[in-house]
Amino acid sequence: MKENISFIPVAYPKAKVEKHKTEIIKSIETVISKGVYILGEEVTKFEQEFADYIGVNYSIGVGNGTDAIALALKSVGISPGDEVITVSHSAVATVAAIETIGAVPVFVDIDPETRCMDPLLLTKMISSKTKAILPVHIYGQPAPIPEIISIAEKFGLKVVEDCAQAHGAEINGRKVGSFGDVASFSFYPTKNLGAIGDGGAVVTNSEEIAKYLNAARQYGWYQKYISSFAGSNSRLDELQAAVLRILLRELDADNRRRAEIAKVYDSAIDGVIIKAPRKISGTKHNYHLYVVETDQRDELSNFLNSKGIGTALHYPLPIHLQPAYKGRIRGGEKLTQTEDLYKHILSLPMYPELSDKQLNYIAGKIKEFYE
Ligand SMILES: *Cc1c(COP(=O)(O)O)cnc(C)c1O
Repeated sequence: MKENISFIPVAYPKAKVEKHKTEIIKSIETVISKGVYILGEEVTKFEQEFADYIGVNYSIGVGNGTDAIALALKSVGISPGDEVITVSHSAVATVAAIETIGAVPVFVDIDPETRCMDPLLLTKMISSKTKAILPVHIYGQPAPIPEIISIAEKFGLKVVEDCAQAHGAEINGRKVGSFGDVASFSFYPTKNLGAIGDGGAVVTNSEEIAKYLNAARQYGWYQKYISSFAGSNSRLDELQAAVLRILLRELDADNRRRAEIAKVYDSAIDGVIIKAPRKISGTKHNYHLYVVETDQRDELSNFLNSKGIGTALHYPLPIHLQPAYKGRIRGGEKLTQTEDLYKHILSLPMYPELSDKQLNYIAGKIKEFYE
């Protein structure tokens, strides 16, 4: 079935679901007829397949990417009052998750090249209360994890990777999520691996952490109906796991298509006064988002919108300037690079099902704007 979209959105998860609709419906019917609707075979199989994909020993399916961060932090012993150093350039979920467990977020500025945590500024923000570092692989660009880990080791801190935007992104041929003590993923529909609803996972190489997480996502049960510690409920849904198993098989091909699209954008904006995402040596970007920087952000955005091309801001405000967080998070007073970036960013349409025709149309309109 061919669908004519006159407006090209920034993300379009429906295209992928439509493409695999027959298989998805079949897998849902299988779940229905098996009659196991919570933590059944689909969740178990998906957890194994996802762990294999990332290259870790364990993957634990949870309710969403925000819970995945909160549970990941708890699994490495982060308690109320402990400081967690992260970035303000992220989805609010990152900081919401830290505060959910009573921990205290602290901000460090970003490196304008990677747009991720700047490891050179990290040491200065570490206090006696600091227990963990939470880098975000923003837009799918890997954060400089090896540098961050060496600082963490020096100060005895845990490293929790927020991989919500980074399924399949790599550093020196190794997938992100396999570096930290523990890492979190989201399967929100627009992510590179997205469900048809909410979902998330925590991955780790540690058997001890995995055992804790298996219990923590379900009332602290190591054994059914017996709570060994106070937990809550955040399980990956069996139906979502069935869908994710199908879409996981497409992830590498999807990421390759995203890279192809990025290349077309790169060449379209080569030579005009607009900055493409930088190529960071040794890393593989998964192009969850393709975010340019330009002094004429609002003008370019309005122009593209008027030509039927969607754009977005990821995000309209950094976390430390959002009403809920403004003025109360340590480090928020000196985020020069973060604040500067937010004046210039614009996200262009990026999803694997974008056709060559649509892509060339967008590239042409960008060139036209700068002519
Ligand atoms: C999407 C996202 C999350 C939250 O995931 P949900 O599944 O929506 O809870 C966390 N961190 C980052 C960087 C994200 O992009």
